Order: sequence, then C-alpha cells, then structure tokens
Amino acid sequence: MNKISMVDLKRQYEKIKPEIDQAISDVINSTAFINGPAVKGFQDDLEKYLGISHVIPCANGTDALQVAMMALGIKPGDEVITTNFTFIATAEVIALLGYTPVVVDVDPDTFNIDPESVRRAITPKTRAIVPVHLFGQCADMEAMMEIASQHNLFVIEDACQAIGADYIFKNGSRKKAGTIGHVGCTSFFPSKNLGCYGDGGAIFTNDDELARQLRVVVNHGMTVRYYHDFIGVNSRLDSIQAAVLKVKLARLDDYAASRNRAAEYYDNAFRNHPKLRIPVRFERSNHVFHQYTLVTKDIDRNALQEFLASKEVPAMIYYPVPLHMQKAYLDPRYREGDFPVTEHLCRTVISLPMHTELDEDQLAHITASVLEFVNA
Ligand SMILES: *Cc1c(COP(=O)(O)O)cnc(C)c1O
Repeated sequence: MNKISMVDLKRQYEKIKPEIDQAISDVINSTAFINGPAVKGFQDDLEKYLGISHVIPCANGTDALQVAMMALGIKPGDEVITTNFTFIATAEVIALLGYTPVVVDVDPDTFNIDPESVRRAITPKTRAIVPVHLFGQCADMEAMMEIASQHNLFVIEDACQAIGADYIFKNGSRKKAGTIGHVGCTSFFPSKNLGCYGDGGAIFTNDDELARQLRVVVNHGMTVRYYHDFIGVNSRLDSIQAAVLKVKLARLDDYAASRNRAAEYYDNAFRNHPKLRIPVRFERSNHVFHQYTLVTKDIDRNALQEFLASKEVPAMIYYPVPLHMQKAYLDPRYREGDFPVTEHLCRTVISLPMHTELDEDQLAHITASVLEFVNA
C-alpha cells in the first residue's frame, strides 16, 4: 500500500508532470516572473470558471481577506462578525486592521456560521459579516445576504476551503462559492482544493468600482505610477504560481469528484455508527470536501488520533481551540461556555486523510483502522 498522507501532492503532480513542467519552464524562459502573461491567463480562466466579472490575484488567502476589508473602507473600531469555528486567518486580519472581531456560534450540522447568531450579534458598529465556507461546503449565503441588506452590511466570503463549490439558491439556481457576497476571497496554499506550488490567493467581485479599488490596494495604494492616494500593501501572485494554477484549474471539477468518491467510501463505512457522525450535507450547497470531518461521540478523540498514527493513518483536529479561547484573542466579553456548538465541535471532531489520490487499499485501511478503535 502507498504511504497515506493527509494530502498527497506528489502523486497528483506525477499525473500532470509534463504539463506542469512545461508551464513552469515557459515562465522561466520568458523571465516575466511578476505580472507576466501567465497571471492574466489564469485570471481570465478563473473569471470564466467562477462566472464573475473580476478576479484580482494576490499573494495568499490571508492577504485576500485583508485587502478586501481595506478596499471596502471599513474603519478602525468597526465591528466585523465572523464564525468562531475557523482557521485563525479570518479573525486575524480583522484584529490586525484595528477592527473588532465579533465571533458567533455555528450550525451543529454544517459547522458553518449560524444566521440567528449573526442577527443577535449586530450592533450599530457592525460593518461586515465574514462567512467561512468551512471544509468545502457553502455557508447559508441567502440568509447572510438578507441580513446584510437589512442592516446595510458588507458580506466578505472566505472561500479559502471551498473553491469550486456551488451554492444552490432556493429557486434552484447556482453560483460558485465566493461569488455571492460583495467580495469573495480564496487561497491557493498547496493543500487547498486548488493549490499552487507555493503561496497564492485571489479576490473576486462583480462590482467594477470595488475591483478598481482592490487593484489599487494590492499595488501599494497606487492610482497612477508613483502616485499613492491610499495606504496599500504589496500582494501579488507570481507568474510561476499562476502557470501551475492554470493547469490545475482545468482539473478542479475532476479533483472535486475524486474527493467526493473518497467521502462516499468513508460515508459507507461509518454511516449510522453510534459513535461517529458523518458530514451532514447542507441542502443549499454541494460539497467539495476540503476536509472529511467526523464528529465523535463517547470516545476519546485524541486516543483515536494516536491509535490511527500507530497504524500509519494521519488524522488532524481542525480546529482544537475556538477563536474566543485563543490567547491572543481573549476578550472580556466572551468566556468559556458562551459558544456551546463550537466548543463541542472543538472537543469532538477529527478529520481523516482527504485528497485527490486516495485509492481503495488506502481507504480500506483507514476505515478499518477507525472502526477497530471505535468498536473496541
Ligand atoms: C487557508 C485559509 C486561509 C488563509 O489562506 P493562506 O493562503 O494560508 O493565507 C484563510 N481562511 C481559511 C478558512 C483558510 O482555510
């Protein structure tokens, strides 16, 4: 059996090696390392794929979130609401820009931001909501947009884990994750569903004026060369990464299908098990399985992780600590017990290997190992 990893980028690369190697060597031969034609080429492809007017490439997903907030003109002291159950980057940029991160609890089934909790968290200082499409499934975007329009708020989608997922509206129409709010953000970190071979990110919007401002902010706040009307940042996707992403974007839907096949294998092994809850599918989204995350019941989750390690099955805890319990983000307004769903998930979730290259032998070994522990 091939060695099992959380993410197997090596075998994925081997299948597309000639195309990737050619794309990289073309960039090197052109020496257009920054803002070369490869960047524009990928940007155009991604705009088409997402069905959005503007894709602004940038250096990583964290920058995408930061630049989006800067371009929207959110001011220090303003409140930005986000989910308590996410990767730290989401809250980090809010705090870094001098805004107040306001965290809310999540839906116990989808792990995504709970609309009722968002409503309760709104104050006169609230300026934006940042839903995160966690683990590859869209948050309840119709609810987010309705709340936002009632209270005149911006919606910034953190689609770092869900590129390629479809949000399915009540009327049956579909839009890609990250293209529904005022602005969407994604990451091309290697382990993400669309990952490059280094760091990368992008921002999406249909708003022409906002797109113009996003391009100014990523480029040192520069409106005309060497005239700086705004304080900006330097955040670029380099040409080599764009060339890699162009090759992989053409396969993104196939990659999602491979992830779904692995998820179905896991589902079939664990469905209806009294100690394991398989991922609940949200009826308003399809799933691109950035992670396959089980909720455990009545077992020592950390002991399960150690047992799996002894069987050479890696497993990860995404995420062990809610934002409001992170040392750097402690806030006198929040205490332990305030976010019962998030806190319960942090104690009970475990994510199994999930990538595009999992084969039957590996899936059989992983599921048998999990069942050996939980049935013991
Ligand atoms: C990965 C990730 C980010 C940050 O992306 P980077 O490219 O690593 O900066 C932000 N939010 C979420 C939810 C993520 O998973």
